[in-house]
Amino acid sequence: MTTVSAEIISSGSELTLGRMVDTNSAWLSDFLGRLGVPTVRHTTVGDDFGRLVEAFQRGWAGAQVIVVTGGLGPTEDDLTRPAAAKAFGLELEFNETLAGEVRALFKSRGAVMTDNNLRQAWLPRSAIVVPNPIGTAPGFALAEAGRLMVFLPGVPCEMKIMAEGWLKPRLKEQFPNLKASRHTVVLNTAGLGESRVDALVGDLMAPNRNPAVGLLAGADMVKVLVTATGDDPAEAEALAAADVAEVEKRLCGHVFGYGEDTLPDAVAGLLKEQGLSLTILDAVTQGRLGGRLAPGLDPANWGGGQDLPRQPALSGALDILRLYAPDSAAERQTDSSHCRRHAREIRLIVAARPDPDSSERPEGHLSLLIECAVQSEALCGGRPQICQFPMGGEPHWALSRAAALSMFHLWRVLKGFAVE
Ligand code: ATP
Repeated sequence: MTTVSAEIISSGSELTLGRMVDTNSAWLSDFLGRLGVPTVRHTTVGDDFGRLVEAFQRGWAGAQVIVVTGGLGPTEDDLTRPAAAKAFGLELEFNETLAGEVRALFKSRGAVMTDNNLRQAWLPRSAIVVPNPIGTAPGFALAEAGRLMVFLPGVPCEMKIMAEGWLKPRLKEQFPNLKASRHTVVLNTAGLGESRVDALVGDLMAPNRNPAVGLLAGADMVKVLVTATGDDPAEAEALAAADVAEVEKRLCGHVFGYGEDTLPDAVAGLLKEQGLSLTILDAVTQGRLGGRLAPGLDPANWGGGQDLPRQPALSGALDILRLYAPDSAAERQTDSSHCRRHAREIRLIVAARPDPDSSERPEGHLSLLIECAVQSEALCGGRPQICQFPMGGEPHWALSRAAALSMFHLWRVLKGFAVE
């Protein structure tokens, strides 16, 4: 079965000049995707006749479904109708029925119709009229076996009503084999860069594969999107589940949540589940770590945070632990009642020293070796779990990233994964 794919073309100089955001194309991509038609290209063209002609011809050659929005109004810069006629060598014909409808609409609204409104009644020969139930600009479509190009107004509410009312049933009729059920799972990962994730799951991202797998890199997480299509919801869900399980296996120890879950949420959930109270000793991130974790914590799981000065004497996480929480390691050896008293505490300690391996760095940039430790009587027999990672670059970015990786380290320890 050939895959049916779509191209969306939006027109208008307001869009290409950056004065307006093209929300139509995003909405249409989602709309078409839900009907089982993935969009393969978005094109935006200004009010330029030649470029519009070229875009229409390229769209027709490149996809089975082409949706054009904008440029259908009555003014001089509304070029879509003549450009479509030119692109496909069709005459523009005056459609009396449409003209009557435009006149009737103005009359029903008690508005005066200027002659230029009748421009909207000129359509390329053989075009199918796409009724506009709420505006004056009708749409039109050109069709042949296995291909459909539809021209809709730019006004979002008109475009959407016509897509729902006309395009949806037309697509189902013209392409009866569309797999119209779609199921998407978003896996949120931390601790791996986008290229590393790609190296681990890249083979699942081959084009035209079902499920489609894609990556979305954010500030401190990489999302893996698994989207399956099927004849019915159960088939789509089952197909997606197989890939989700495979991605989870390959990225084991890095998938901390799904959809809208954040890493602070995931940590908060684990602290609550395990009845632990978190204390932060932070000599690196200047409050960023506590600032991200504390707001989402239940008061019972929050023991407070201390921002410590970064100084050479405090370069190791264990130095900090000894200085600021001396009871945690030493007393544990001797005082068994202490163990019980502090059994529900967990400490996250972040320290840094200059990175000895760093080469020259730009003025004002940091280059640090971060040492992060998690220590709790309840976990790993109280032995501090330590990881180190280099961190450099523009200070705000570097410190935010250090906070994210420290949080990730805490999440891993809480989940019982080995320290990397
Ligand atoms: P009209 O009869 O209103 O002239 P039209 O098809 O000619 O309809 P345009 O003139 O291209 O549409 O756009 C009308 C308005 O619709 C724009 O001013 C803008 O507010 C909105 N619009 C157009 N295109 C888009 C788009 N791609 N994304 C979001 N809004 C859009």
